[in-house]
Amino acid sequence: MTMGTVFDIQHFCVDDGPGIRTTVFLKGCPLRCVWCHNPEGLEAKPQMFFHADKCVLCGRCADACERNGHVFTEDGHILERKYCIHCGTCAEACPTDALRVTGKEMTVEEVLADVLSDKPFYETSGGGMTLSGGEPLSQGKFACSLLKAAKDAGLNTCIETSGFCPESVLEEAAAYTDLFLLDVKETDDVRHKQFIGVERDRILRNARRLSELQKPIILRCPVIPGCNDREEHFRQIAALAAELGTVREIHLEPYHPFGIDKYESLGIEPAYMNRVFMPKEQAEKWRQLLQNCTELPVVIS
Ligand code: SF4
Ligand code: SF4
Repeated sequence: MTMGTVFDIQHFCVDDGPGIRTTVFLKGCPLRCVWCHNPEGLEAKPQMFFHADKCVLCGRCADACERNGHVFTEDGHILERKYCIHCGTCAEACPTDALRVTGKEMTVEEVLADVLSDKPFYETSGGGMTLSGGEPLSQGKFACSLLKAAKDAGLNTCIETSGFCPESVLEEAAAYTDLFLLDVKETDDVRHKQFIGVERDRILRNARRLSELQKPIILRCPVIPGCNDREEHFRQIAALAAELGTVREIHLEPYHPFGIDKYESLGIEPAYMNRVFMPKEQAEKWRQLLQNCTELPVVIS
């Protein structure tokens, strides 16, 4: 039985491929984008969210935990993560939803059953299932099995990926994927290593491989103030799209700070602290610049 670690299954998504879709978020990612807004997707194993602002200090979590995972001092309530095995017992005991396990082991069959519950909506809208993360191909065996099962069930399939994975995994996924939502986070090699944490070569090789396989691609490009918001980057995105040849659209994703509070709830220090949304006019300026470099549709998503 093929198992994977899933941290969310979102229904009725309209921005993750054509039609109405169910997006399955797989845990684990080899990249470390400084602006990541899904920090619960970084680690492969389950983790605990602790929302201190919801805690009323009732102590029920401490009574429920057999591993001394909750300590109360004059500074307040401390979750002792080093003792925690993510069993979820304390979260069940908490009356205010201040605690939550993120990451659940599931079989392909369990995930597919959840996805298929919305099949009528896929049929009327041209939608289907999208895999996201984290980097979904970091759980290559599970991701490919799930994509295959979805195709066998007659679903349209998409995968949102950084492209950073072994070529063999990419090729297997491609056999069961209708559309790739391929991230272009940075086009300068030095900055790529600096802001993303990995070299760009493998990602480029895999993007070219998708093109050789004639797989349709939408490029998804986060626009991050102070990191990649410069003219040359957008010109290079257009050049890459032209080179690949199977790109259908380019989507710009202006920076938003929705992930910042999640870092604190996971006990992680954010690497990029910016609570300001990118102004619409600024995003439109970059969209126009990129649109002037390509005949492909460029949209803000
Ligand atoms: S998830 Fe389990 S081990 Fe972790 S703090 Fe809660 S009860 Fe203790
Ligand atoms: S059970 Fe919930 S509300 Fe009560 S102390 Fe624990 S985290 Fe806070």
